[in-house]
Amino acid sequence: MSTANADSDSGSDPRSNPRRDPRSAELAANVADVNERIDRACNAAGRSRDELTLVAVTKTWPADDVVRLAILGVTDVGENRDQEAAPKHDDVALLDPSMQLRWHFIGQLQRNKARSVARYCDVVQSVDRESLIAALATARDPEVPLTVLLQVSLDGQTARGGALADDIPSLADAVESTASLRLGGVMAVAPLDADPDEAFARLWRISERLRIDHPIATAVSAGMSGDLEAAIRQGATHVRVGTSILGHRPAFG
Ligand SMILES: *Cc1c(COP(=O)(O)O)cnc(C)c1O
Repeated sequence: MSTANADSDSGSDPRSNPRRDPRSAELAANVADVNERIDRACNAAGRSRDELTLVAVTKTWPADDVVRLAILGVTDVGENRDQEAAPKHDDVALLDPSMQLRWHFIGQLQRNKARSVARYCDVVQSVDRESLIAALATARDPEVPLTVLLQVSLDGQTARGGALADDIPSLADAVESTASLRLGGVMAVAPLDADPDEAFARLWRISERLRIDHPIATAVSAGMSGDLEAAIRQGATHVRVGTSILGHRPAFG
């Protein structure tokens, strides 16, 4: 009896009440910690917090967590697999149609997924080749352009995604000549065995060069749970944080 009535007195969504939803309380504490790290890094770098967008990387976590984060004010969501993200996007829209979220695609993207991703994403951060630009361009309505970031490989390897720095200017021109796409900037992941400050400084120089011909391309998406301070020191405008907000992802397989 009492359990059935536990939440009925207020009629409010239990996800919005951390006392009744331990997961919301956990996410609230983690978001506070990450925001404190971002604040401290901005202060140390003499930058304004307004220059930074926190993207919560919700891959492997359920739609309920996306809703919990939105209630906490984290409204930029990052996903890396269309098979997971498309139904999650639709579930979130069903759970709360009033939510105003921005969905960022951050994973390697096959051309045959471009149509799906262009339907529900606001930003595709992992654009790294002309064939993908063409596929996204035809998939999107020019009335509502899709923002794309060019993903740069910072170690000269392209097998795990990312274009070579030398190819960025021609990719940028390809995006800018397409009415349904809007060039937002650049994105990168620091190479595993590299110093993140050096890697992100390199990304910043690539961004500077890009902005000579494309001044609107101001976004620099860099930094994850382990290296967001280095990214902010080196000029990042977007950090993509999974583990530090949502916890350790369950192992695949
Ligand atoms: C998973 C992922 C992240 C988040 O990584 P964490 O270490 O969990 O913060 C950021 N960027 C990309 C491209 C990712 O795939």
